[in-house]
Amino acid sequence: MKRRSHQVSGKAGGLERPPRRIPVRRILETLARCYPDARCGLVHRNPFELLVAAILSAQSTDRLVNRITPRLFADCPTPAHFCRLTPGELEAYIKECGLYKIKARNILAACRILMEEYGGEVPADRAALERLPGVGRKTANVVLSNAFGVPAIAVDTHVFRVANRLGLAEARTPEETERQLMRRVPREDWSAAHHRLIHHGRQVCLARNPRCHLCELRPDCRQARAGPAAAATGRSGPGGVP
Ligand code: SF4
Repeated sequence: MKRRSHQVSGKAGGLERPPRRIPVRRILETLARCYPDARCGLVHRNPFELLVAAILSAQSTDRLVNRITPRLFADCPTPAHFCRLTPGELEAYIKECGLYKIKARNILAACRILMEEYGGEVPADRAALERLPGVGRKTANVVLSNAFGVPAIAVDTHVFRVANRLGLAEARTPEETERQLMRRVPREDWSAAHHRLIHHGRQVCLARNPRCHLCELRPDCRQARAGPAAAATGRSGPGGVP
């Protein structure tokens, strides 16, 4: 009878060692225990407000956006109201945000499309959302999961960094990180895991100086196993942007 040979990978004494398995379930349970109430940080009352807030949040903090939107939404609660603004008038509401001129143009163009093609409603459809100016895959995921309850993982800088440090993903781009997370995380956990990874990235797994000594995920973290220096310099954001 032919003897079976063992397939191996990774070098150890001339032999290859298989990559260590990532304890996905345990990591998700720890995140759930640490952040049981994690949810969307953008204050909103309906899908339209979330859409506008999510467009504004690109390269701005949720806190800043939450400071700006109450007055904006009080004066302009619907796409029809926005369509009556000039770009300059909208810019005056949002000028604290980075890239506010571009965001003002995109929001006004998106509102015109909502009025002309969707009766002033935000579509619960990825392709339709991604056609709106200022809406990429991440923003569409934020709207789909938080406004419509569609399971989705929006990969922002925190999700990208923490998922790759932990070993939940091993990717160079947000898109690849999202695909890997969708394969490894059960579908029913996608939205919650996304919020919990963001909270962990903001509170513990900071971009420049991760607080590994405080981290409950440390025993299961691939980056921490590689050593503190590796954790401190580990992938910080898409394209190295923290
Ligand atoms: S152990 Fe360190 S690198 Fe790993 S998740 Fe925790 S804070 Fe981040």
